[in-house]
Amino acid sequence: MNALSATNRNFRQAARILGLDSKIEKSLLIPFREIKVECTIPKDDGTLASYVGFRVQHDNARGPMKGGIRYHPEVDPDEVNALAQLMTWKTAVADIPYGGAKGGIGCNPKDLSKSELERLTRVFTQKIHDLIGIHTDVPAPDMGTNAQTMAWILDEYSKFHGHSPAIVTGKPIDLGGSLGREAATGRGVVYATEALLAEHGKSIKDLTFSIQGFGNVGSWAAMLIHEKGGKVVAVSDITGAVKNPNGLDIPALLQHKEKTGRLTDFEGGDAMDSDEVLVHECDVLIPCALGGVLNRENAGNVRAKYIIEAANHPTDPEADEILSKKGVIILPDIYANAGGVTVSYFEWVQNIQGFMWDEEKVNRELKKYMTRAFHNLKNMCQSHDCNLRMGAFTLGVNRVARATLLRGWEA
Ligand code: GLU
Repeated sequence: MNALSATNRNFRQAARILGLDSKIEKSLLIPFREIKVECTIPKDDGTLASYVGFRVQHDNARGPMKGGIRYHPEVDPDEVNALAQLMTWKTAVADIPYGGAKGGIGCNPKDLSKSELERLTRVFTQKIHDLIGIHTDVPAPDMGTNAQTMAWILDEYSKFHGHSPAIVTGKPIDLGGSLGREAATGRGVVYATEALLAEHGKSIKDLTFSIQGFGNVGSWAAMLIHEKGGKVVAVSDITGAVKNPNGLDIPALLQHKEKTGRLTDFEGGDAMDSDEVLVHECDVLIPCALGGVLNRENAGNVRAKYIIEAANHPTDPEADEILSKKGVIILPDIYANAGGVTVSYFEWVQNIQGFMWDEEKVNRELKKYMTRAFHNLKNMCQSHDCNLRMGAFTLGVNRVARATLLRGWEA
């Protein structure tokens, strides 16, 4: 099932549980605005290359729309739509004053030089600059983009609108980025995991972890779990996978990856098949990469007792059903990975106030938001007798529906 059908299905189920009026349901489902732009750039060799860029602004009832920009060959309108919708529910679950949006360019950033990426980002920004804004729609990094990408957007946007650090989050610290933003999604995943485990009388130090994806989110999550005494027994990324039943030395693995660009040939573990990581023997599985990786083909073989969705939409609805029948507890994406956008909110607040927080404050506030959201989510599970995914969806959808109703529809 594609990401949009799956997301719509989860939304509809939540709307049913909440007893939402069908007109409100429809208005919440249809995006506020969908933007599609053509971006042509001269390549370094002088030839021209064209790419399609998207920005889907899903909902703004609770505040400016917020969400990342993804550079990936598989970016398509349906996926961006689904991810934009997930951002609306995610910001509502985290209870930060934002709506949801997502953008992307269908390209492989690994095939582009730094100056080609800069040109592409600047052209994309030129095409959307009058549709985004500090109080309208605030982009951030996602897969294939980073603080440098945000710096180019900031610079290009500022040419049209004057110096505007709050137009993007996840930017370099030197340009007004927040301390702690780089680690925030991974750190939030760890706070979310701790909140869930505490409910079950468990803690990170007693458990084994398998982590799929070793980019920004996966590597920070692995590092923090390692620091807290958890055993990371398997890790994968696009280059390969490595395992060690006694726990991998994550700082050494990070150094190895930095030096060689790969996870493979790491001396502190044995090589394994990348796909195996998802079904590896462990207590907690954390998918941190692309969507749809847990599906009907592999869900039956998952051996973890807990799945923490650090990626957006890693579990498709068929896998959801198989896993819940097996008794696997899934902490859903719109809660588990909300740490990134939560610290984006702190960054935006700091930019608007012109006052910088220290890292300790950022992390302390992040923990407060993640823990509070978990308790709000659990309350929804109890009131509606539903699983954690529906607890998160009903929490998010209910907050957005309430804001929508309060604002009304009078022209
Ligand atoms: N791309 C991240 C996400 O999917 C962060 C979005 C943001 O910070 O606005 O949540």
